This record gives sequence, structure tokens and C-alpha cells, in this order.
Amino acid sequence: METILLLAHVEPGGSLAKSAREALRASRSLNKAIAGSNLFVGLIGESVQAAADSIAASPATKYFGVVGAEFAHSRYGTDAAAAEALCKAAQATLVVAPATSRWNRVLPGVAQRLGGRVDCHVTAIADAAGNPAVNRWYYRQRMEATLTRTHRPWFMLIDPGSQSACECGAGAAAVEIVPVNLTDASRRTTVIGIREPKADAQTIRPDAPLLFVTGAGWTKKQADGRTHVPEAEKLILDFLRLTRASLGSSKSLVDLGGEGQAVLPFLSHLNQIGQTGATPRHAKGLSTCCHGEEPHTVGWRFIAERRAISLDPNCGWSRGKADVLYVADAFAVIAKANDLLAANP
Ligand SMILES: Cc1cc2nc3c(=O)[nH]c(=O)nc-3n(C[C@H](O)[C@H](O)[C@H](O)COP(=O)(O)OP(=O)(O)OC[C@H]3O[C@@H](n4cnc5c(N)ncnc54)[C@H](O)[C@@H]3O)c2cc1C
Repeated sequence: METILLLAHVEPGGSLAKSAREALRASRSLNKAIAGSNLFVGLIGESVQAAADSIAASPATKYFGVVGAEFAHSRYGTDAAAAEALCKAAQATLVVAPATSRWNRVLPGVAQRLGGRVDCHVTAIADAAGNPAVNRWYYRQRMEATLTRTHRPWFMLIDPGSQSACECGAGAAAVEIVPVNLTDASRRTTVIGIREPKADAQTIRPDAPLLFVTGAGWTKKQADGRTHVPEAEKLILDFLRLTRASLGSSKSLVDLGGEGQAVLPFLSHLNQIGQTGATPRHAKGLSTCCHGEEPHTVGWRFIAERRAISLDPNCGWSRGKADVLYVADAFAVIAKANDLLAANP
């Protein structure tokens, strides 16, 4: 009999992230498909009651929690000990977790401790017949495979954004607190705080409905024979501020800085999408000033609706991959879009 454990860490305010609700929904679908299976939830955090209550109307029949100040922050030693204790308490055979940076770092080690197996970058956890099976992409999202395993426990880290989130309502959950005996070794890393960019400087927003992609064209000579980098910077930042879109970039544009050319200072290689960049998932994408060759459009595979603004009507990518192509000057289009957005916030 399969026992499915949805493993989640609570957010600093005590809530559950959308990625956890996505993993819960996938877990529930699997639970429904496997006759006689159990669905349990395991939570870790300083306090987990509010998070458990927020999904109390879910079909999960048991809630386990590891709680305490030691478990508030991401730290390998304490997170691994907590996850191990939860898996044992639930006697889980299938452990499903959102592929957050926190779990990605910890769960492969927990699988090793429990003699299990782990798959990461998972985009589905059941095959067409409803049996446990992992779906994932290979070779920079060019090939898709479905894998099955008989070995248990089997850990599955689900890529955020690949599932729809469960809408389970709130209620009162009875959480069984699982004790964890922490060794000194598991506490030897001290978390002294979190350093992060100011909200406005943070341009990568995985939960944004729109991905805005900038290409090298923004820094190229324009019709007047000159570059307009400061103007490009203002247009792009204004657009991001007005839309709260996530910012992606072509490799050429982020590379320009390293080559000593005029470049947009808020872009880093973390913004790069494509073959050697990230593979973000968003409902819509707008690419601007990109030529974007075929292998590098893989970053767009998980964008549901794709639009592009390019001066080049013959661009193969724009013609082949965009749902809508605006053959136009991106400086003019984004300036106009910003005016309209500012007038209709
Ligand atoms: C091993 C390897 C890995 C790579 N990995 C990646 C990757 O992961 N991601 C990636 O993106 N690239 C990657 N590349 C690079 C890739 O091959 C392309 O060189 C790059 O994507 C092109 O970037 P671009 O479209 O910004 O620039 P360009 O090719 O220079 O295109 C600029 C475009 O801007 C348009 N333009 C100029 N001005 C305007 C304007 N005012 N309005 C509208 N349009 C305008 C031009 O018409 C042109 O089409 C990789 C390359 C290699 C060799």
C-alpha cells in the first residue's frame, strides 16, 4: 500500500507557499488514482499550525509537524533531521515536495539516509493510468521522459509552476508533533539573517503572470546611428515597475557587460533564459529586441502565450515561435505601453 507524504516547509509568516499547494494538488491526484493509498502532510517550521489549518479541508487524513525555532530557517542539518523524522513517522513510501531551493538541497541526502531514491525537476508524478511515475525533461528541455521505480521510499521534487495549486479551504487540522533529537553537528551552522536585494531591485519573480525578456537590441545602435542605453534602462525598469513582470534576458545581453560594452546594470546571468540559462514558467511572455536562436528558445517552452517585438520581420524565431509578432521599434512600443499602464494602473 502506498503512503504519500506531502512535505513542505512553512514560510516566515507561517503560511504555505504556492509551490507547496501545487505539490499538494499533484499528491492528491496520485492519492485518488491509487486505490487504498494514504495521503499525509508533513510540515516543518517555527510553528506549523497556521499552515496546517490553511489546508485543513484537503483530503489529507493526517498532519505531522516538526516545530521549533531551530526549524524556522533553511539549514541542511536541521532540515534533513526534520524531513527524516517526518518520513519515518508517516512511514511514507512516496514523498512529494516542492522543488524549492531549501528542499532541493536537503531531500537527496534524506533519501540516501532512508535508503530511498530521489528524482528532481519533476513535472508530473503519475502516468496516464494513474500509477506513480515521474515526468521530467532532459537535455535542456528538448526531450521529455516518464520514469517508474519500484524502489521505496521514492522522493519526488516537483518544479514550481508546473502544476496548478490546490484550492483546499481552511479549517482546524490536528497536527501530530514529531520530536527530533538534534545533534550538535546538525546545529553547527548558525543562521544570522537573510541578505536579499530590495524588493524593487529583485527582478526575478517566478510567480509573476508575465515574463519580460530583453535582448541585445536594447543596447545596439538605433536608426539615428547611436545607442540609447540610459533610455532603454528607464523604459525597461518602468515597465517592470508598472507590470511587476519577471525579467529574463538573452545570453548576448547579459554577456555584454563582461565584454566591456554598454550594458543594463540590473541584469545578471541569473536573468538569462534558454539553453544555458533558466527555464521559467509563466502564463505570458513578451520578448523585446531578441533574435533568439532556436536552441535558446527552450526557455520559452513553458510560457503559455508568447509575443515578441522585433525590428526584423524575417527573424526565424519570431516567425516560428511567437504567437503574436509586432514588427516594430521596442523603444516606441514600450514607451507607449508604459504611458498606458501609468494612466490605467
Ligand atoms: C553554447 C551556447 C549557449 C548559449 N546559450 C544561450 C542561452 O541559454 N540563452 C540565450 O539567450 N542565448 C544563448 N546563446 C546565444 C545565442 O546563440 C544568441 O547569440 C543569443 O540568444 C542572441 O541574443 P539576442 O537575441 O539578444 O541578440 P541579437 O542576436 O544581437 O539580436 C538583437 C535583435 O534585436 C533587434 N532589435 C534591435 N533594435 C531593436 C528595436 N529598437 N526594436 C526591436 N528590435 C530591435 C534586432 O533586429 C535583432 O533581431 C548561447 C550560445 C552558445 C554558443
